Amino acid sequence: MAVDLHSHAGNLTQMSFGRGFSSAVADPMRQGGVSVISLAVVSDSPIIKLTGGRLRPGRDPHPGELYAFSQRAFPALHALAREQGMPIIRTSAELRTARAGRPSLIVASEGADFLEGRIERLDEAYQRWALRHLQLTHYRPNELGDIQTEPSVHDGLTAFGADVIRRCNALGIVVDVAHATFEGVKKAAAATTKPLVLSHTSLTTRPAAWTRRILPDHAKAVAATGGIIGIWPVAGYFPNIVTYATDGFAKMVDVVGIDHVGLGTDQLGLLGASAMPSYADLPQLAAALRTKFNEEETAKLLGGNFRRVFEASVG
Ligand SMILES: [Zn+2]
Repeated sequence: MAVDLHSHAGNLTQMSFGRGFSSAVADPMRQGGVSVISLAVVSDSPIIKLTGGRLRPGRDPHPGELYAFSQRAFPALHALAREQGMPIIRTSAELRTARAGRPSLIVASEGADFLEGRIERLDEAYQRWALRHLQLTHYRPNELGDIQTEPSVHDGLTAFGADVIRRCNALGIVVDVAHATFEGVKKAAAATTKPLVLSHTSLTTRPAAWTRRILPDHAKAVAATGGIIGIWPVAGYFPNIVTYATDGFAKMVDVVGIDHVGLGTDQLGLLGASAMPSYADLPQLAAALRTKFNEEETAKLLGGNFRRVFEASVG
């Protein structure tokens, strides 16, 4: 079973603003053999802005603004699921029965900004929108913690951030620490009782300023929770699908082991080109991985590891 840990497929972000159109999601998944994607609304998208080649907060949100936006974005996601005929996965049992012949999705949010500091909204999103995967922060230092791409203001994770992690653990929501600082990840690892996901990144030993890539110790802090790191197909780092596999996946496996790596395409979320622009490309990725890993190991990387984390987190 192949699973994408992080996706904005179908032009979901544009749809959340009531503009644009959904593009095919289920067909390329069937073609490539991808069973499940974690499809993310982008919680802070009304206020983030491309500035000097990178995404930054353009202004502070107005009170209620990001919650109100989520009440448009989650319905857009559900509409996309209906239109594409894709079931929404709410339980581990449903994940286990997922098949590429009938592609499914997991409701995710990139950023918990829509909570606006109110924990009861997490329960509401779990119930009302079937939220099962929450990334704590995105491109705005928010009520939960710091981000890699802005100066630290919270010493990593706030008390509210730790509360949200514990409530995710109790409700059955996967906790994703993508975009968080190393300090934030260490504090999240201390707060959580379930494995963490870091859904889209890659390894570096010489980080550039404001990079979204991570150092080996940052990766190890995620793996130590039993969690997984999704490898991000940014073409600036991996020019094609072969190097994405043999460099991106393989280097992370060298550092954290075969049980702690997964696929995180960020489809339609990348600023630049992708080494894996379509789910129809999965067979090429699998073939490239097979030059380094056996069949069982490849199956873990492409979905088995995520299934383990989802089962532990969601029940
Ligand atoms: Zn994203």
